[in-house]
Amino acid sequence: MQLTFTFEREPILLQIRNRLVQIYGQQRDELRHEPTPQWVKAMISSRTLDAISDGAFVRLRGLPSWDMLAQMKTTEITPMIHDVTFAQNKAIHLAKSAQIIKRRRGTVELDFLADWPTQVAFDWLNSLPGTGPKVACVTLNFSTLRRPVFAIDTHVLRVFWRLGLAPNRHNFKRGYITLSNLIPNNWDADDLYELHWLMKYLGQKICTHERPLCGRCPLASLCPSAACLQA
Ligand code: SF4
Repeated sequence: MQLTFTFEREPILLQIRNRLVQIYGQQRDELRHEPTPQWVKAMISSRTLDAISDGAFVRLRGLPSWDMLAQMKTTEITPMIHDVTFAQNKAIHLAKSAQIIKRRRGTVELDFLADWPTQVAFDWLNSLPGTGPKVACVTLNFSTLRRPVFAIDTHVLRVFWRLGLAPNRHNFKRGYITLSNLIPNNWDADDLYELHWLMKYLGQKICTHERPLCGRCPLASLCPSAACLQA
């Protein structure tokens, strides 16, 4: 009798991660913030260079407590984060969200999420003004909560869209749902953290917004956009 072997194709996210690890190396965290500072950091960092949002975060971190965010006027918060993109909107969302957290929990601290199931914690964060799935995932995955959710930013979503794995390059909610369904069952929070940073680096250095360098891309053979973008 002749033996036949069936080889299952590796999950696409595993193929992507393996290729990117070859060029960017393994991504493991060294420092994790507590949930509240990580949430604040994520709230102010979108569409802003890391060096600038880091500076704004340091200024906010100088407040006596996070409860201050619920007491301050947005006109007091805005100058503290003046150099981040959309500073005024972010200040409004920070103040409103902090007031909601204080009203619901008595203090502006998110440590209580450690006792909640991941989906419940995600939904709770996602309901806060200006938080959304991106900030909720960063808070849950990057912080000491270390939850297995996939954080998607503009770079990550753009690359997945060009790869044909995300339905829209601007819709984080749909991207989050679609990509979450592709995550291998045995991946943990650290695997998702690693994939986030690998994809972000690719988006910043090779699959850039203006001019993707498909000829140098380790994902080119997996990517339906490669041929037309190189043409
Ligand atoms: S092949 Fe081109 S479009 Fe596809 S992921 Fe790489 S750089 Fe982006």
